[in-house]
Amino acid sequence: MSEDRDATDDHAPEAGTRYDQARWTDDGQYEPLLAEKDSTEVAVGDDAPLPDDLTRDSLELPDLSEPELARHYTRLSGMNYGVDSGPFPLGSCTMKYNPKFTERVAALPAAAVHPDRSATSVQGTLELQAELQGYLGRIGGMDAVTLQPPAGAAGEFTGIRIAAAYHEANGDDRTEVVIPDSAHGTNFATAAMAGFDVVELPSAEDGRVDIGALEAAVGEDTAALMLTNPNTLGLFERDIEEIAEIVHDAGGLLYYDGANLNALLGRARPGDMGFDVMHYNVHKTFATPHGGGGPGAGPVGVTEELAAFLPTPHVRQQADGSGYERYEPERSIGKVHGFSGNWLVLVRAFAYIARLGDAGLADASARAVLNANYLASRIDYEVPYGPFHHEFVASAGEQDAADAAKRMLDYGVHPPTTKWPEIVDEALMTEPTEAEGKGSLDDLAAAFDAVAAEDDATLDAAPERTAARRIDQVSAAREPRLSWHALEE
Ligand SMILES: *Cc1c(COP(=O)(O)O)cnc(C)c1O
Repeated sequence: MSEDRDATDDHAPEAGTRYDQARWTDDGQYEPLLAEKDSTEVAVGDDAPLPDDLTRDSLELPDLSEPELARHYTRLSGMNYGVDSGPFPLGSCTMKYNPKFTERVAALPAAAVHPDRSATSVQGTLELQAELQGYLGRIGGMDAVTLQPPAGAAGEFTGIRIAAAYHEANGDDRTEVVIPDSAHGTNFATAAMAGFDVVELPSAEDGRVDIGALEAAVGEDTAALMLTNPNTLGLFERDIEEIAEIVHDAGGLLYYDGANLNALLGRARPGDMGFDVMHYNVHKTFATPHGGGGPGAGPVGVTEELAAFLPTPHVRQQADGSGYERYEPERSIGKVHGFSGNWLVLVRAFAYIARLGDAGLADASARAVLNANYLASRIDYEVPYGPFHHEFVASAGEQDAADAAKRMLDYGVHPPTTKWPEIVDEALMTEPTEAEGKGSLDDLAAAFDAVAAEDDATLDAAPERTAARRIDQVSAAREPRLSWHALEE
């Protein structure tokens, strides 16, 4: 098949890694679904304790041997791209390589505990939760941490709800949340969903918070400022102490979006910078493969003044030190997710932090920053803002960033995040992470440069060497067909 492909391919990559993604049929169709391969009507019992209209008499199931099944999934995996295939420099998402030992720990039979079991029968689980709360608190400089929110966005919502409850408890009616224009879209959505008016803060010339604009934006209506530090351009907010003072003097709280914590691990703490509440994207910073939208976890840390508002149930060591217990914090905002959130993601985070320790975490952030700076220094695309930390935003210049990104797939590189933040024209937001070695970074740079030198026609036609070519992204998002039946219809 690859000979065929060479014959039809006039845009074979000339530099960087040559890449061919698996394709399993010649006619443009993909590996067939199991139901298309072979299926059998299987009778099902009628003893299910469910209403009749929710049950059926027979079910069509694939009738395949084990080798047929194993090959099907192996073929599908070859048509996919993930952190085990090659570098995944998707800026802001921190798609770091996930060490296999964290998977082994999460797969231990003892990790799979039913969340409804009594506290006395799951003391080990509660101890792990309490320890992880402690680890995260120490890493972020926060006094108390809830593990419940199931994603970064859910952590934001939880944190802003806590801020709202705090102001309300003080009899303080505040209606606005201030957010820089470089922030992630979830920040704006969070503030709106929590019932606040969003005040968008324009960035200064250097890409950071504009102190003058901040002073003008905050006041007696300000409930909180939401800030990512380093921001989405990878820039550290050098004036963070002054920023904190301005917000606090106005009676507002400072919210830290923890998505970029990979830049600061073991080196600087949001709590020390003056932040009152933060989320951790543990799936970004502390292992867990999260491509394709999940699963994740977004624990929230708060200072002492806000601890009483944390979601319920919370976990703590019993006062007499004899064991661990679940309890409802005094002024809890309630539940934001079932039980303790996405538990096995939290187990992975615990294993990762415990294994690396203080020195390992500090080393990870140092390498993440070094790698981003090395890669940026090697590529031909312009990087307008700096000095940056764990990620940088290059500009594709005259090229369309999304087309350039599609072409990178042909070189075996997962594309960077594109067209965001909007401060940079045709943005290529790139985060190589700490796990890539020099050879891998050199290959990445070669791929970027090869794409930078290509013409629009080539970029328009890309990708050519992947299992799926251009996907209709709008229809995929707006009219998803998520079941075999929907596809049949
Ligand atoms: C990923 C991200 C979020 C949202 O986190 P999810 O875990 O994807 O919900 C928020 N802010 C920034 C800067 C991010 O990169």
